[in-house]
Formats: sequence, structure tokens, C-alpha cells
Amino acid sequence: MQLRHFDTIIIGQGLAGTTLAWHLLQRKQNILVIDQQEAVTCSGIAAGLVTPITGMRLVISWRFPELQRIAEQFYRKIEQKTASALYHQRGMFRLFSDEAEQQRFTKKLKTQAFRDLVQQPISKFDQTVFSSLLGGFEMPAACQLYVSRYLDISRNLFQDRQNYQHAAINTNEDIILTEYEVKIPKCRASASRLIFCRGAEDRNNSWFPQLKFKPAQGEILTLEIPDLHEQRLINHKSWLAPMPENKFAAGSTYEWDQLDSQPTEKGKQQIISQLKQFLHCPFKVIAHRAAIRPALQDQKPIIGMHPQFKQLGIMNGLGSKGSLQAPWLAENFANHLCGGEPIDSEVDLNRRYPA
Ligand SMILES: Cc1cc2nc3c(=O)[nH]c(=O)nc-3n(C[C@H](O)[C@H](O)[C@H](O)COP(=O)(O)OP(=O)(O)OC[C@H]3O[C@@H](n4cnc5c(N)ncnc54)[C@H](O)[C@@H]3O)c2cc1C
Repeated sequence: MQLRHFDTIIIGQGLAGTTLAWHLLQRKQNILVIDQQEAVTCSGIAAGLVTPITGMRLVISWRFPELQRIAEQFYRKIEQKTASALYHQRGMFRLFSDEAEQQRFTKKLKTQAFRDLVQQPISKFDQTVFSSLLGGFEMPAACQLYVSRYLDISRNLFQDRQNYQHAAINTNEDIILTEYEVKIPKCRASASRLIFCRGAEDRNNSWFPQLKFKPAQGEILTLEIPDLHEQRLINHKSWLAPMPENKFAAGSTYEWDQLDSQPTEKGKQQIISQLKQFLHCPFKVIAHRAAIRPALQDQKPIIGMHPQFKQLGIMNGLGSKGSLQAPWLAENFANHLCGGEPIDSEVDLNRRYPA
């Protein structure tokens, strides 16, 4: 059987695979992206928030200023190339949920890095629809990627260029390694290397048993809120974000034990009750979805090539920060694959998970 040869095959067209594909194309690589096109995927349902300060402990996102600068440059380039609006600097209001959070905020203000990312008092917003009894702070640098649109326009472009195939790849049965190549006869393709970007599915990847995953299931609602015209992001235990076509997204939950993509009534009610604590106008739930975030135990992503099977690599562990981390991670990986540059030690597969 005649196989078409590529420099790189990428399996998975979520945030990881798509962003790596763009970086390799920019370096003139001949690539093939393969995806099984599940109806619901983790990237497909993500709200795409890029948030400087997160969690109850008000922690600055890992390497935020550097990663955000690279993310912005990257998405702007893709916007230009595809003539689409993908990345929005929205700013986010974080409304204090209790006095303890207020006090934590005051303490955190002692560090310059924290002060650089926040603004107080918060600028005007519609008090008739939102309540903020305890006040809050603003994060002007918060952004949002329209993830689903980014995936769709990228897939269309990869398809037009013959860089894309729809197929489900079984890691045990469909992949054949030779000394210098990897072959996928099912897709009539061979390549010098293959990179797995299969998200939570890579928990069961027998080529990389050393990875220690700690995935988290998450649920998200799509809402219609006719009386709401706010375009900024709001956070108060849960968050509310504008989406295309005058819709809003609200979420999200974290569940570490029951890992499946089935949305639950409990998850839905949790988001609704948190939303009602700060939103005082009627809304209608028009979609409710769930997916598994691919996270590693230490909550940091990884990239790298297999220590023994040099043709195989992986990019994974984007957790809940795929929109922020994918561009920096993919750039680092592409520079390594195409230019031999070292992988950043904090995300290097072979340092973090020596075989
Ligand atoms: C409810 C929820 C809300 C979120 N909100 C945000 C947010 O606001 N901001 C943010 O940055 N992140 C958010 N995330 C996290 C974000 O979605 C992840 O970081 C990101 O999607 C991970 O991307 P990935 O490409 O690694 O994995 P995935 O998105 O899971 O992509 C993997 C791809 O591989 C394909 N695939 C899997 N197995 C195979 C196979 N055998 N053969 C072929 N193809 C295969 C799948 O079809 C899929 O397209 C959220 C996640 C959830 C669940």
C-alpha cells in the first residue's frame, strides 16, 4: 500500500493539536492532523477564559505575563490569516464572595506582581442586574478565546490544504514503528514523527505509561439572557462569559472521581445557584455539557519525545488553562522539533517523568 509521507502526524485536534499544527505549518513542515471528531470535546466546550488571578487563594496563573503575551501574539496572527475574530481582551470583574476573600486580596496587594494585574475600584457596571455587596476587583488583562470557532476555522484550513483526516486512532493497533518512521496504514500515512495530543484520552496511552494524570470533569451551561448586555467577564465563585450569537456561558464545575462526559443535574444546579448569587435577571439554559480536562498531578503541562521510541512525542496536561498555555507550549515544542532548541525544564517530559 502506498503511504503518503509527512514530517509530522498530530493525533488530536483540540487546543493542543491545533496550536502545535499552526506552529509547525509556520515552520514549513508537512503535517497531517488526525481527529476522531467527537460531538463533545474538552476544547470544544471550553469558554476560553484567560484569567490572570484564579481560585479561592487568588493565585497568579503560572507565568501569566509571559504566556499571555505569547498567546495574544499567536491568536492575533491566526485572526489575520483567517480573517476571523477569535481573541478578545474583555477584562474581568471578580466580586468578593466573603470577607475572608477581601482580606486575602488586601494581603496579596503587598506584592508588585499582584498589583500589576488588578485594578480597584472596579469600573461601572449595571447594578440593576449584578449585586456586589462586598465589592471586588478588576483584572483588565483577562481575555477570552472563542475556542470552538478557533478549532473550526483551523480544521477548515487544514482540510483545504490536505493536512487533515477524520479517523479514530487506536494506539495499540493502528501505529507501526520502524527504525526511522511511524506508519498509520489505516490513514495511508507515514511520518518522521507522531505527536499525541489526545487530551484526557492519553491517560490510556500505552506508549507513555509514566505520565501521572489527575483529570477533572467539568460542566458548563450555555445561556440566553435577553436583558444582559455586559461584554466583560464576571467571576463570583462561578463565572459568566459572553459568547458568539448573543449567548453566554456559565461554569464551571470540578469533579475528580466520576470521570465521564455525562452532564449531571447536580452540576447544573451548582452553577445556577452560584450564578443567582450575583445575577439578578432571568436566564434560560439552552445547553448543558460536560468533558474531562486533561490535567497531570502537578497541574503543569508537558511536551517531549519518547526517551526510547524517538519517533513518538506528546503534548498534554493543559488542565483548565489550555487557551493561555497552548501557544507558549506549542512554540517551545515546535522550536525543539524543528530547530533543536531545548525544551523548558518545567514542561520537559523527560525531566518530569523520566522513564
Ligand atoms: C467545562 C470546561 C470549561 C473549560 N473552560 C476553559 C476556559 O475557560 N479556559 C481555558 O483555557 N480552558 C478551559 N477548559 C480547559 C480546556 O478545555 C483544556 O485545557 C483543553 O481543551 C485541553 O485541550 P487538549 O487539546 O489537550 O484536549 P482535547 O480538547 O480533549 O482534545 C483532544 C482531541 O483529540 C481527539 N482524540 C482523542 N482520542 C482520539 C483518537 N483515539 N483518535 C483520534 N482523535 C482523538 C479528540 O476528538 C479531541 O479533538 C475548560 C474545560 C472544561 C471541561
